[in-house]
Amino acid sequence: MSTIPTQHQPQPSLRERFHRRSLEHQRPLSLVTMGFTVLAFLCMVAARELVGAPSAPLGYRLLCALVLALLVLAIPRTKSTALFGAIGVVYMLVLVGGVVLNARGLVDPLVWLLPALVVIPICAAPLWLTPMHFVTGNALFYAVAIALLLGNTHSREVDAAVWTWVIVIGAPSAAVFHFSFYRFRRNHFLLESQLAQLAATDPLTGLQNRRAFVKHAEGRLETRAPGAQISAIFLDIDSFKSLNDRFGHAVGDHALFQVAQVLKDAVALYHSASRIGGEEFALLLDDDLAGALRLAERLRVDIAAIERPDGYLTASFGVAEHRPGESFMVLLDRADEALLRAKQTGRNRVCAARALPFDPLQPPFDDGFAPHAAGNDPSAARYRWEDFYLISHFQPLYSLSHQKQVGFEALLRGEQGDGTLVPPIVMFAPKPSSDEGALDRASHAVHLGNARRTLPGDAWLFLNILPATFVADGYADQLTTIVRAAGLEPERVILEILESHGGSVDDMSRAAARYRQHGFLIAVDDFGAGQSNLDRLLRIRPDIVKLDGELIRATTHGTQQPILPKLVSLLHQAGMLVVVEGVETAEELILAVESNVDFAQGYLLGRPAAEIAPPESVHRQIDDAFDVIAQGRAHQHALFESEVEPYRLELRRAADDLRAGVMMDDAFATLATFARCISCFILDETGRQIGHEVRGPAWCKDAASLQPVANPRDARWDHRPYFRNAVLLPGEAITSNPYLSLASGRPCIAVTLAVQLGSGRCVMGVELDWSARGLPWPAGE
Ligand code: GH3
Ligand code: MG
Ligand code: MG
Repeated sequence: MSTIPTQHQPQPSLRERFHRRSLEHQRPLSLVTMGFTVLAFLCMVAARELVGAPSAPLGYRLLCALVLALLVLAIPRTKSTALFGAIGVVYMLVLVGGVVLNARGLVDPLVWLLPALVVIPICAAPLWLTPMHFVTGNALFYAVAIALLLGNTHSREVDAAVWTWVIVIGAPSAAVFHFSFYRFRRNHFLLESQLAQLAATDPLTGLQNRRAFVKHAEGRLETRAPGAQISAIFLDIDSFKSLNDRFGHAVGDHALFQVAQVLKDAVALYHSASRIGGEEFALLLDDDLAGALRLAERLRVDIAAIERPDGYLTASFGVAEHRPGESFMVLLDRADEALLRAKQTGRNRVCAARALPFDPLQPPFDDGFAPHAAGNDPSAARYRWEDFYLISHFQPLYSLSHQKQVGFEALLRGEQGDGTLVPPIVMFAPKPSSDEGALDRASHAVHLGNARRTLPGDAWLFLNILPATFVADGYADQLTTIVRAAGLEPERVILEILESHGGSVDDMSRAAARYRQHGFLIAVDDFGAGQSNLDRLLRIRPDIVKLDGELIRATTHGTQQPILPKLVSLLHQAGMLVVVEGVETAEELILAVESNVDFAQGYLLGRPAAEIAPPESVHRQIDDAFDVIAQGRAHQHALFESEVEPYRLELRRAADDLRAGVMMDDAFATLATFARCISCFILDETGRQIGHEVRGPAWCKDAASLQPVANPRDARWDHRPYFRNAVLLPGEAITSNPYLSLASGRPCIAVTLAVQLGSGRCVMGVELDWSARGLPWPAGE
């Protein structure tokens, strides 16, 4: 919520400032001289008692002394110059009244009165703050004194002497004293102001310098009204060094001047601006964060319109709002940290300081959101973060066998006040290490705050978690509490450990056990990418493995056969469920189904969104994929069989020849002319090759990289599936799954047949080149 900036008190005029400064200077002097006058008056009262003629009552004269003393005591407390002047005037009048009262009844009153009448105005002359005070005070003083004097009967000579003294000596001396001293003080004040101005101003731009700015800002923080908001903007010109280096310092200086002009124009009314370093400026303003961000954005646009010889100037901004109890330097530091982020995320932008670290059980959601009331609350939870809000989007995961939504992955998004989304590059910009994990933990609070409102009752919630957060002490307990506070059970939450640095695998495996005790399920994200390797998988033993979409598209070298089915089979064997992410096309969905993946997620099935889309059309798509696969599988099988069948027939015929005593070369002569034949071979009972292999057209002479293992005669092959399976089904020509042929360096399959020859039981076979694109793939895992 923004507030209207409160306008400052208008700056006092120079004359007024001078008078205020005079008050400060003269206060101690006035106190001392006027204090002494009270003592002098008391002495006069005492002396008068010794001269025993009739006089005004003692009580009246002592009352005068009391009033004088009270006026003296008021001096240290006087703030206004007018009041100070009034005190002076009243003081003079009471004093003269007291003196006249004392002189009453004396034979020769002038002996007592004349010195006082002349000396008091002269002594008091330097103490008057302004000529007006001086003139008013003295005029009243003489008027009262003369009125009192004229009330008594004097000779004409006495009156003439009084007038002469007053006019010739008293009044002129007082005037000379007063105006000389006034002039002296005024010159002193002007010099002092000029010096202060110079010491506080940056000479190049005319803005406040750092010292003055900090002093001013600290003063503002101390004197602000309770609840008043204050914010700081820190800005730094982008790539300024290059401007200096390429075009000279004069151009750099001019640019600094122009930027200062922009700041002056913008902040003229309410705020203060300073050049606090080379090309760094700061502003202090009476506004909240939103207001400060608006001003910073305006300044950014204005600065970006300043031309430099090779384009336009730009600047990066950091903005922070003052927190209760925070010193100005801490406020400036936070703005500086935000500025650093603005630089790191591309410059020419405005970043706000981070929000306070929050209590996850009481996250400061926007305007009145309460996770407990989630069921009734129609609006999504937003959490203020820097200059935007954190919100949740949910993307569905489908069980392919059940053909329905079984879970939702919560994805963090940033939203501006006006509802536009924040680009991920800004949101996930590199953070200083002190804040690592803060966004992660905030995201959990936001997602859980939104989950109960948004998610169907029986669905899993997939929460991404950084390894460092996952292993953090006490987070398992904390997260359990947040989950329960959000009205969910940990059993419905699957923690998806992100592929990222942080936390040793040992720590993660121990942490996984703790989360499991609370009931959470564990998933490993992006298996196969970066840090998420097989070691991590086998040690953490997640319930679910998420495979990156790239793995759907990954194929074997040469044949372009997908490798996903084998990978899924491996993970199933290890007791894990498999999710494949990034399913975007119908072909990928078919492949996911065919690969026996458990769950799938991707744009084809549903995009991340704040609200969950109904699943009907997706259900049909998955069903179609199953149909396509059922039909395709039969077709595929038929194709494969027709491709392999001639080799099976010819192998059986060769076996007949061998049993009839035909030599190996002759028996394999026909098979060795078949196009895909790499080589024909015979293995003895221990899997060792008998004699030499008979080479076919697909034999490859240039498989040089496999040279050390290229000679099949050095090896035993009874561990190979094509050997073992043939021995299990003697007399039947069986086909293997594709594998890499060591003879050709290309993918191949083997057709093998166990036969009883004179020398004992053998396995004879042929390796077929299976590297051509589009060849049918054998059925089965
Ligand atoms: P970045 O975008 O990261 O802020 O890069 P940059 O080049 O603006 O920042 P860097 O801190 O590397 O350079 C600041 C330059 O400002 C270096 C210094 O020579 C120059 N500079 C500092 N004071 C003045 C000045 O009064 N006049 C001029 N012309 N240049 C100045
Ligand atoms: Mg710079
Ligand atoms: Mg700089």
